[in-house]
Amino acid sequence: MDIQNHLHGKAILTINAGSSSIKFSLFLVPQLNQIIVGQIDGIGGDASFKVKWSTKNTEETINWPNGCKPQNHREALSCLIEWLHQSVNAVEIIAVGHRVVHGGQKYTAPMIITDAVMQELETLMVLAPLHEPHNLAGIKAAQESFGNIPQIACFDTAFHRTHSFIDDCYAIPRYFYDKGVCRYGFHGLSYEYITDRLMHMFPKEASKKVIIAHLGNGASMTALHHGVSVASTMGFSSLDGLPMGTRCGEIDPGVLLYMMQHEGMDATAIANILYKESGLKGLSGGLSNDMRTLENSDCLEAKQAIEYYIKEVKREIGALTALMAGLDVLVFTGGIDENSVMIRARVLRDMSWVGIELDEESNLAGETIISDDHSRVLCLKLHTDEERVIARHTLELAKQEMALN
Ligand code: ADP
Repeated sequence: MDIQNHLHGKAILTINAGSSSIKFSLFLVPQLNQIIVGQIDGIGGDASFKVKWSTKNTEETINWPNGCKPQNHREALSCLIEWLHQSVNAVEIIAVGHRVVHGGQKYTAPMIITDAVMQELETLMVLAPLHEPHNLAGIKAAQESFGNIPQIACFDTAFHRTHSFIDDCYAIPRYFYDKGVCRYGFHGLSYEYITDRLMHMFPKEASKKVIIAHLGNGASMTALHHGVSVASTMGFSSLDGLPMGTRCGEIDPGVLLYMMQHEGMDATAIANILYKESGLKGLSGGLSNDMRTLENSDCLEAKQAIEYYIKEVKREIGALTALMAGLDVLVFTGGIDENSVMIRARVLRDMSWVGIELDEESNLAGETIISDDHSRVLCLKLHTDEERVIARHTLELAKQEMALN
């Protein structure tokens, strides 16, 4: 008999709703043992539904009920719930935690989603038009499907609300700041997870000057002092800072004016270029947004895309180190950082000036500590787990809510 048939008890469901996908995970309470991770992709088109049990190594493809593929988030979520019902029928979902990209200037911590919170989140859609509407669609679908259980929003921006005005503002007329045009920084749930791990693994170093580099499909870097974010490479939108899979990273705003005035492009066309056709994909001449493909390619454009990427990562390490007037710990996380020996090595070589001495063998072996014994800066490679952060917050707030009712 499959192990899942023995599973019983209460659980937290986490949901990360993107434009055409829903990533989800199920955690048993109170220990938050993760029992399932899964993903519904291609919603509205050729949708697929895959799950992985913590007890098995293989990914399972789930068939759609009656062969009906979901046309929207609501339908996708009801397929998911139906499947959970059948597969772990003795597990009761007591709360749902949602990843929400933007919490604006107001939300500095996770929130129980009430009607008032939902209304406020809707006003924030203009700040993240490509992500927030899908996050909110996921929340609405979950509210419809789960009825009255607590739903909790966990914001990617909240972690960075500790920045000073100087680290948050742009040098444009100040009334834009009052309208919410400032540096928000993202990937906060990942930074929170890594910060927490650092506190447990290296408590003395964790409160010193730390840079965390989250390099995945999206990429950013954050500087932390005393465990709080003081600056991030991402700004008003998730376009700024480092180049990404398909996003441009730092760019002169004059380029956008040129695109408008001389290429006749409107906002939609420019957004498409900057979000979907740039970064590694754009620089590699359309070859790929995936670092693995670029690393395996011999073509000049792929090599140049990697060179540009490494240059920008080094530059931001330098900039954040200068802002903090020093560096004690550098952590690599995210799909590229966690997996690419070459990127970690290329970034860390020739960084003695900042006190970084790479241990090539530890890096090759994929060890946690990748700096050598003489390195003044402790360099680490750590796996991030945003879902677990969402699950933790959701359990905490759900307990408070249940105690009140
Ligand atoms: P997301 O930002 O969507 O959460 P991830 O953090 O999972 O993405 O990172 C995904 C990216 O990690 C892939 O697009 C790929 O570029 C990179 N990646 C994954 N495995 C490797 C590898 N072995 N070598 C180099 N890059 C890798």
